[in-house]
Amino acid sequence: MAFRAGLRTAFRTTFRTKRPRPFSSIPCKQARRYRPFENGPQYSKLTADVAETAPQQKWSRIAPVYKAQYVWRNYRGVVISIGAGGVVFYVYNLEEVPVTHRRRFNIFSPEAEKEVAGSSNEYKQQLEEYRGKILPPNHQKTKIVTRVVNRLLPTTGGLAGDDWEIHVIDAPEIQNAFVMPGGKVFVFTGILAICQNEDGVATVLGHEIAHNVAHHVAERISGQIWAYAFAFGVSIFFDFTGGLSNQIAQLLLSLPNSRTQEEEADHIGLLMMAEACYDPRQAVAFWERMAKAEKVTQLEFLSTHPSTYNRIDHIKQWLPQALDRYNEKGCSITGQYAKDFTGALGRQIQEAPEEFAAEFNSVSSALTKSLRPFSTILAVTTARVMNLLPGPADAASGRKPG
Ligand SMILES: [Zn+2]
Repeated sequence: MAFRAGLRTAFRTTFRTKRPRPFSSIPCKQARRYRPFENGPQYSKLTADVAETAPQQKWSRIAPVYKAQYVWRNYRGVVISIGAGGVVFYVYNLEEVPVTHRRRFNIFSPEAEKEVAGSSNEYKQQLEEYRGKILPPNHQKTKIVTRVVNRLLPTTGGLAGDDWEIHVIDAPEIQNAFVMPGGKVFVFTGILAICQNEDGVATVLGHEIAHNVAHHVAERISGQIWAYAFAFGVSIFFDFTGGLSNQIAQLLLSLPNSRTQEEEADHIGLLMMAEACYDPRQAVAFWERMAKAEKVTQLEFLSTHPSTYNRIDHIKQWLPQALDRYNEKGCSITGQYAKDFTGALGRQIQEAPEEFAAEFNSVSSALTKSLRPFSTILAVTTARVMNLLPGPADAASGRKPG
């Protein structure tokens, strides 16, 4: 309140010169002269009152409105130059986001983004944090995630050349996934339980990789420049020690992904999964499962990926566009084969744990894509012979609360 009132007064007194100034009785002209601080911040001649009562008054003890007035009167040129420079800097660094064509401020090139947020040090730290919990590359779950990433990569428009590494972390209690700039994928087994099938995994990873496609990290770091500039500006008038500026900057930096970025990642991710021949309608099913799971437990994914807007409604709006892409790629035909196939063996899949179901779906869709139903029957028979289908006891223990 006091902050707003202070700003309002500062604005009136400094910018609206046509209005009668509340300080009209004060000999302001003297204050217009440049007065450097001596022996630390001083503010002695702005008003007669101040001059009489506290000639050596410290900067920190002066009301923000007087500070603003002082700065404007003595450093008007500097203030205007910084403001104009800021505007030029901002406009010069505007760019368009791929796919959605949103204009945004970004000062980082993709290489710089990788350097800052996806450095090898950062990567090592993450590996260290999950050491001992990372599933081996030949683990069923790692294979599924790897396959989904490999299918999504050609749709990213240039990220396939990055050094991609896939890590599945055995942590059923964590429903989260993230992808570092530069292509380091971390998926927690908790979210795989909600994914249920490969389309679900593609929904999550499509969304996460879409954050990279749109270079959202670079955008967020770029935004932090304004956060620090704003915090610094506020600290000049409200707290000279800088404590306040740190607090404001921390607050701005700790904010989760913005709603705009989330929407964008959903949109781009949906088109990516459709292009990779994953059924985009499954994204709606996934988010519905996510919403259900959210009612039961606090989901970590949603702490960094806010659900403050209605994801499902938005995804339904983009679905026709995604389905067009899906059909253009000829995915609907192969998809139908996959459905018939999984339908016929629905009982076994229902009894199987999620990881097997996903593996199974994927095998079936890959094989039916080549339009060789005979091979799929052979594959299933072989799988059953090799006892890969779990017994009822394994199936029960393999289920996770979703
Ligand atoms: Zn997100």
